Amino acid sequence: MAITLFSHAICRQHNAGDDHPECPARLDAINDQLIRSGLDYILQQKDATAASKADLCRAHSTLYVSELYAKAPTEGHIWLDPDTQMMNKTLQAALYAAGSGLNAVDEVMQGNDKQAFCAIRPPGHHATHDQAMGFCFFNNIAVAAEYALDKYQLERIAIVDFDVHHGNGTEDIFKQDARILFCSSFEYPLYPNTGADTVSDHIINLPLPGGCKASQWRAAVSSEWLPALDAFAPQLILVSAGFDGHAEDEMAHFMLREDDYNWLATELKTIANKHCQGRVVAMLEGGYALSALGRSVVAFLKGLM
Ligand SMILES: [Zn+2]
Repeated sequence: MAITLFSHAICRQHNAGDDHPECPARLDAINDQLIRSGLDYILQQKDATAASKADLCRAHSTLYVSELYAKAPTEGHIWLDPDTQMMNKTLQAALYAAGSGLNAVDEVMQGNDKQAFCAIRPPGHHATHDQAMGFCFFNNIAVAAEYALDKYQLERIAIVDFDVHHGNGTEDIFKQDARILFCSSFEYPLYPNTGADTVSDHIINLPLPGGCKASQWRAAVSSEWLPALDAFAPQLILVSAGFDGHAEDEMAHFMLREDDYNWLATELKTIANKHCQGRVVAMLEGGYALSALGRSVVAFLKGLM
């Protein structure tokens, strides 16, 4: 039991305005609940470092990365899609968000029975090989996975994405790469309205209806993901940890609660203990109901312990 928490103050400085749900207060809400729960005493907290262009270009096209650097405004803001704006500090925040995944991979690969959680923003799982979308600029989890494949010569990495939205960007980046087992559960139909018809032997999508109860979600995860993850025998488990499927989160219509996130973390830890010395790296994706977000992160981390 040794969880390291990576974050960086600059991740708070990307600010798309007071009425934007992907707001700096999300990280404060997580921090508040870590303190309230006493977990802040147990976690090892470290500052993330920034990803380099070369790190980003393992998951994204060089043209896309170069264009994002070139577009980054020094004042004002620009819109990359109707949900996704870039301002003065956005590029820096995105570089540290992506970099935290590399730090976390190093942390768990170089220690025994180690887990890491990256409390970062902007999130990443909608960013495709060559497109920003849905609040996402760089695909943090994909950048981390590519780094682990490259630096540690891994052959099997599982990416588990329980954000209520389909991890379309992650699927796009790894659709031809069977070294990755990608598992995504999501409300369908709902933004980005992808993933329901994916046919692949290394992508397990669980499109579930609005109003989905926890029992239905757990049953789907138990029958579709857990046996496949066990059979895949991952050398590392990465998690796109989005908490917007919480019943209190108005971004979508799932009915999940803290104990469901705790349950999934426990199941993933069991698989990680069996196959990869307990190595789990989770990175924050969505989660917009602030109180529920903080409580859910605490429940998830307790499940990893
Ligand atoms: Zn989401």
